[in-house]
Amino acid sequence: MSYDSSNIFARILRGEIPAHRVYEDETALVMMDIFPQSRGHTLVIPKAPSRNLLDADPAALSAVMPLVQRIANALKAATGADGIRLAQFNEAPAGQTVFHLHFHLIPVYEGMALAPHAGGKADDAELAELAKAIAAAL
Ligand code: AMP
Repeated sequence: MSYDSSNIFARILRGEIPAHRVYEDETALVMMDIFPQSRGHTLVIPKAPSRNLLDADPAALSAVMPLVQRIANALKAATGADGIRLAQFNEAPAGQTVFHLHFHLIPVYEGMALAPHAGGKADDAELAELAKAIAAAL
């Protein structure tokens, strides 16, 4: 299957749809997931167009992983999470719902179960505050 530039993350990257932005540079955008699996669920989105890991340019992958690490550390510091889960889904049967490559960073709090994938919408004010706190921890 080929890349379709009308997907929601491509629209966010083009500035057509608002997002709770944490960080942006020439290669990637980092934003809050609006249907978080836990408090602070963050997405790292490479700007280079690809559906997912399977068709991504290896150069784009190597460029983005240091940022994934940096955001994971900032996220842990900003949220006080006990651990960080990294997740990434490839094609619908594997759980992918948005077909532009992205990495999930999901804070894990000891003793608290994660909410279902793409479940309830979070409060906008809380997401805005979290985005600010994570950016400040970078
Ligand atoms: P995936 O299932 O890996 O494709 O993940 C897509 C993720 O995007 C899900 O966790 C959704 O909660 C999240 N999501 C969908 N629409 C938006 C949006 N407009 N802004 C932020 N996150 C979104």
